[in-house]
Amino acid sequence: MTYSFNPDSIELPIGHLIDGKLVSSADGLAMYRPSDGAAYASCPVADSDIVDRAVQSAKHAQASGWGDATPRDRTRAMQKWADLIEQHATELAQLEALSSTRPIAQIAAGDIAVTAEQIRFFAEMADKEGGGLAPTRSGSLGMTVTEPYGVVGAITPWNFPISMAGWKLGPALAAGNGVVLKPSEMTPFSTIRMAQLALRAGIPAGLINVVLGDGPVTGAAITGHPDIAKVSFTGSTGAGQAIMENIARTGVKPMTLELGGKSPQIVFADADLDQAADAIARSITFNAGQACVAGSRVIVHQSVADDLARRLIARLYPDRPGPTWDANTDYSPIISARQRDRIISILSQAVEQGAEIRCGGHAMDRPGYFFAPTLLDGVTQDNIAIRQEIFGPVLTLQRFETEDEAFDLSDHPIYGLCAGIFTRDLSCGLRAMRRVQAGTVWINRYGRSRDHILPTGGYRQSGIGKDLGREAYHANRQSKTVLIDL
Ligand code: NAD
Repeated sequence: MTYSFNPDSIELPIGHLIDGKLVSSADGLAMYRPSDGAAYASCPVADSDIVDRAVQSAKHAQASGWGDATPRDRTRAMQKWADLIEQHATELAQLEALSSTRPIAQIAAGDIAVTAEQIRFFAEMADKEGGGLAPTRSGSLGMTVTEPYGVVGAITPWNFPISMAGWKLGPALAAGNGVVLKPSEMTPFSTIRMAQLALRAGIPAGLINVVLGDGPVTGAAITGHPDIAKVSFTGSTGAGQAIMENIARTGVKPMTLELGGKSPQIVFADADLDQAADAIARSITFNAGQACVAGSRVIVHQSVADDLARRLIARLYPDRPGPTWDANTDYSPIISARQRDRIISILSQAVEQGAEIRCGGHAMDRPGYFFAPTLLDGVTQDNIAIRQEIFGPVLTLQRFETEDEAFDLSDHPIYGLCAGIFTRDLSCGLRAMRRVQAGTVWINRYGRSRDHILPTGGYRQSGIGKDLGREAYHANRQSKTVLIDL
């Protein structure tokens, strides 16, 4: 089967999805296709009145049954939804490929299958995870019961739209909440269709409302709304900070924040260098480095540094770049002209500060916003390429002599999302695992698996709380303590 399609033939579901219906509002933000730079649509921006309609609709749908439903009923509806998502994989993948940086074949065969699995994973938790009895004195009975929050406000980024929507919706719905979800203004369409499929699965109209718009208007109206009981956000650390400020200004509510990263990959002298080079190159070329988990900082023992650099350069080429709607494409464009130009500007400052470009370092000569995979050598800790999350296919390489030096270099003052460690020495790997400041550590691999039980989240300013795993389900329920005198 070929997934290739004509980008001009796709009908877009444009509008806010409220109470199960697409609601239009004035045109808003111009949208451009990253693969060829063509302007193709306009994303409406929901103001506070539209957001309020969405919140009231979710509140009503949640209170009229879903929150109190037999948990197994929630499980069944969500499983049906996951089936429908798989059955509509091609249509969803086309909507996503059109506006995002994800190649169609990767979305259809990867992101969608994983998202359906994750929704089933959370659906199964609905009747398995609860409160508990407490060992109180014999004259009393103490327990905790857990309850949904009500309406969760979810906000997602552009880099993996379907996956991110699944991360938010799966645990929030399984836990009995309604949701008002704002996808990125650059990639909203696959999320709208996903929510429409939920209606066909029997998930009540209004339980998932999708509002379109940007951060300062629509996003702020969600996070500051008094009836949004909890916020679940994935995006940049800067936007996370703005959300915290807005919540503090308008009230107090729990939030889960999955933010940026600048993750190190430490390669010790005894590592399998081919294994390390494969994992590192893949982590920075996948989605052209536009992943929060991108392992962008290589920290390598000096005795093998030149050898590793040679192996990396041999792997850092754009493998089948092309439009995201071509089934053969394997290398993604950058999301926007602005982001491509930001990468160019950071690289030029990095070079002024002493970095050496070993490969890549330039935009690619083809339509759209493509950038060549890049290796920067000779970077010091204060170089801009180390300090900032570049969010593009740029690797830095730093050398160490002692373990302590490696750990010091791996420490980032702002980020602590993930880390990779490559060594054949188990003790060394475990020492490093203890020492690195990151919410996830991978040893002799780099990247998530399909083990959805494993949570994900950041240390330091890479985030607060976890997505995936039991943690994500429990973060969507609040706990009530009960004490009865017998
Ligand atoms: P972004 O922060 O610019 O936008 C993310 C979302 O937040 C968008 O929907 C945007 O409209 C909204 N937003 C922006 N400002 C807001 C505000 N003040 N109030 C409410 N909403 C606001 O990020 P992006 O460019 O879409 O995505 C890339 C970033 O996301 C990177 O920093 C990346 O590391 C991060 N990310 C993190 C994870 C993770 O799991 N930790 C996963 C994916 C992406």
